[in-house]
Amino acid sequence: MSALALRTGAINLGQGFPDEDGPAEVLAEAQRAIAEGVNQYPPGIGYPILREAIAAHQERWYGIRLDPGREVLVTAGATEALAAALLALVDTGDEVVTFEPWYDAYAALVARAGGIHRTVPLRFPDWRPDPDELRRAVTDRTKIILLNAPHNPTGAVFDRATLELVVELAERHDAIIVTDEVYEHLVFDGPHTPLASLPGAFERTLTISSGGKTFNTTGWKIGWITGPAPLITAVLAVKQYLTFVNGAPFQPAIAVGLGLGDEVFAAMRDRMRGKRETLVAGLRAAGFDVARADAGYFAVADAAPLGGHDAVAFCRTLPERAGVVGVPVTAFVHPERRSEVGSLVRFAFCKRDEVLAEAASRLAGLG
Ligand SMILES: *Cc1c(COP(=O)(O)O)cnc(C)c1O
Repeated sequence: MSALALRTGAINLGQGFPDEDGPAEVLAEAQRAIAEGVNQYPPGIGYPILREAIAAHQERWYGIRLDPGREVLVTAGATEALAAALLALVDTGDEVVTFEPWYDAYAALVARAGGIHRTVPLRFPDWRPDPDELRRAVTDRTKIILLNAPHNPTGAVFDRATLELVVELAERHDAIIVTDEVYEHLVFDGPHTPLASLPGAFERTLTISSGGKTFNTTGWKIGWITGPAPLITAVLAVKQYLTFVNGAPFQPAIAVGLGLGDEVFAAMRDRMRGKRETLVAGLRAAGFDVARADAGYFAVADAAPLGGHDAVAFCRTLPERAGVVGVPVTAFVHPERRSEVGSLVRFAFCKRDEVLAEAASRLAGLG
């Protein structure tokens, strides 16, 4: 879809990367680090300054106290943290439970680890999982419940009862919880509740996040994984032979970002909320049904009211018809579930205000 956007000159609301820079202090610190020679391999677990900043961040926002020497590991983005965690913990034939649709890397990484991917559907437009379906999906064969909260591609924020049920099921079936919280600072009606902060959760939970989505530095690939030392040690053993290390000068820069004042985080969240409003209003005016997008970078719209019953075909013609690119949600489900999400399209709103306004005005021509 990005190639299609390039070829047709359409506005690319397909891929979720911001088109403006994050905090100046963060960018300046990376430049300073490069100029001052922070250009060689950092320690395998990450620079102390970043690990301490991650631990301080978890305590400041969530009251979670971590030992930065044993319970924090810096990774090449959230992606490497996910890959290393799955490769470390999943044996051939173990089951990994996720919601469906899922973030696109999940199915591939579960398969690569030799796992079996079990899913629980999230249904348009409220995306609330059915607790009984969740109960049925988690069994003694479940090795990992892989949660993405807030959730991509739906923008869903799960309520506390859902998080509690995940913890309860993990305890009952002795599963490990891996939670991907890269949108933790983009919960529009906050606050974010990390699953690891629930009673009984910490000792069986690995929490993943990344600087990319929070600080508009998706190209830097500085992520991290936190949790109990024995689990972190297992993940480190795999991570060591994936990338070993990455991004030396970006690590102190993300540490600066994590230490920025609450008001900076609030302003970034509020700006993103405004972008959501612009895009959602534009999509509704154009005739789409739009689900609430409570967090993150994306809104999901139903193209059926516009005759787009086949979102794949709809998305192929949208650049020509309206000069805008979106991604069919069928890309994020198993083939046998495609019909259930057949008319849904994911649009990114992490773009400059004028780009979103232009996209909205182009879409208005659709109806
Ligand atoms: C963007 C994204 C990632 C990848 O994060 P990186 O730090 O770029 O590797 C992982 N999970 C979700 C849900 C994402 O949206």
